[in-house]
Amino acid sequence: MMDFGFTINKSSRIDLDRFDKAGFDKLAKIEPDVRKCIACGSCTASCSAGQFHRTSVRSAILSIQNAKENEAVELLKGCMLCGKCQMTCPRGINIRHLILSILKFYGTK
Ligand code: SF4
Ligand code: SF4
Repeated sequence: MMDFGFTINKSSRIDLDRFDKAGFDKLAKIEPDVRKCIACGSCTASCSAGQFHRTSVRSAILSIQNAKENEAVELLKGCMLCGKCQMTCPRGINIRHLILSILKFYGTK
């Protein structure tokens, strides 16, 4: 294969063939706010931990929608619970609470 000196990132689109709605629905039962996310990325752009770790709430939510719960936990491990993301979320999601729920819900599996 020809080397063009760059690589194309893997798409983060939801693969409907792999979409495990059951896992997301279970999380939405304890955290209904997760359904409000529009994947705008404001949380990720404002994240303090993002400078030192690949912390991303947006990507974590997309991972859960793609049935990749372990990946979501990895993406949130560096979170310091500072709450900056919560202040920028246009949907008013209680992100700190959501992060704790995700870590509690999937972190021990
Ligand atoms: S800022 Fe809120 S709506 Fe936007 S991606 Fe983050 S959690 Fe979702
Ligand atoms: S609460 Fe966590 S995810 Fe949100 S900005 Fe702070 S370190 Fe980032």
